[in-house]
Amino acid sequence: MQLLMMGPPGAGKGTQAAKLVKKFSIPQISTGDMFRAAVKEGTELGKAAKACMDAGKLVPDEVTIGIVRERLAKDDCKNGFILDGFPRTVEQADALKKILAELGMKLTQVLNIHVPAEDLIERAVGRRICKNCGATYHVKFHPTKVAGTCDDCGGELYQRGDDNEATMKKRLSVYEASTRPLIDYYKGAGIYTEIDGRQAIDKVTEDLVSVLSSVKD
Ligand code: ADP
Ligand code: ADP
Ligand code: ZN
Repeated sequence: MQLLMMGPPGAGKGTQAAKLVKKFSIPQISTGDMFRAAVKEGTELGKAAKACMDAGKLVPDEVTIGIVRERLAKDDCKNGFILDGFPRTVEQADALKKILAELGMKLTQVLNIHVPAEDLIERAVGRRICKNCGATYHVKFHPTKVAGTCDDCGGELYQRGDDNEATMKKRLSVYEASTRPLIDYYKGAGIYTEIDGRQAIDKVTEDLVSVLSSVKD
């Protein structure tokens, strides 16, 4: 299954992709996670990405497309994958189509998690991530049993530098201008489904799995 998880920042893409990884045993490919790992390692890619991320802007298409091209060519993608946070521009979507064609693949389904703009800032500002395993929590909507400590691995939680109100406003306007047009792009391809992301986390997963159960591989 070649899946694309779409939705504005904070919609729940990463949370849901992690659940589908467990269910379908296919890798999650999150460009945001890849950029954050590069920033942490201090690589050239990390240096190029950091300024854009801190400003709530997109990393340039040629950089982003390059890392996805490399990632999709790896062996673990042969049985499928879940793209999370890529593509975010029409140029990236066109490039993805080409990359997949070169690999003899195509997208099975585009899953767009819909959450109204007014909920997204609260979701992002309350987001907390495990330093150790990357699990995502929320101070109000998905709290850990012990404050500041990951339920899964006991790791320490942190808050992303770009998960503040000002940067989130910028990210939402970038989403409207550059990423929302992809909805029409994929609607035209007949593989697009919208899921109500305002529901509880497990209900959203249920809806996603139900869509996927009726989709042909
Ligand atoms: P994205 O990857 O789309 O940016 P995340 O999966 O990281 O979004 O979720 C953003 C924040 O919202 C996280 O703190 C997460 O725990 C929380 N969250 C995710 N799904 C839901 C939901 N259905 N209801 C309430 N909060 C949610
Ligand atoms: P969220 O889902 O909360 O928006 P991500 O982790 O997906 O967060 O992305 C964080 C940041 O990484 C983005 O604001 C952007 O700077 C950069 N980024 C991630 N994916 C892409 C992409 N496909 N194209 C350009 N920049 C990206
Ligand atoms: Zn953890």
